[in-house]
Amino acid sequence: MRLNDGHGQNVFVHFYHDRVHHLGGERRRTLATVHLGPCAKKERPCGTQDAVVGYAICNPIDPFIPILGRKIALARAFQRANLSVVQRIELWKSYWDATGVWKKDKETNKMVLIKTGIPERGLLGRTRKKKVA
Ligand SMILES: [Zn+2]
Repeated sequence: MRLNDGHGQNVFVHFYHDRVHHLGGERRRTLATVHLGPCAKKERPCGTQDAVVGYAICNPIDPFIPILGRKIALARAFQRANLSVVQRIELWKSYWDATGVWKKDKETNKMVLIKTGIPERGLLGRTRKKKVA
């Protein structure tokens, strides 16, 4: 996914879900890879040298919610990347714009962004089937 940091700079974000052994049990993990410039490889992980990785490990007592895992992992990657507050604000705007859905509010008749956290394309590059209303 390509996001804009508000300074005209493209930031690439990839997500990956797997399972890891953590504190004596198997846990669901979400990784967010963030880097500038083009990907080193087309494959995932893209192997870009200066990438910053943030991760979230799901507590076994909690249900695994991929959208939440991606949000936490991405927030941690942004923290580790030492981005400015302005860049983080713009990147989040760009993220919600890329993963949200615009809908018309019935009361105000204005378009509002619903933060779904679901990218249009699948996480592994598969195209998500669009639901026909
Ligand atoms: Zn990449």
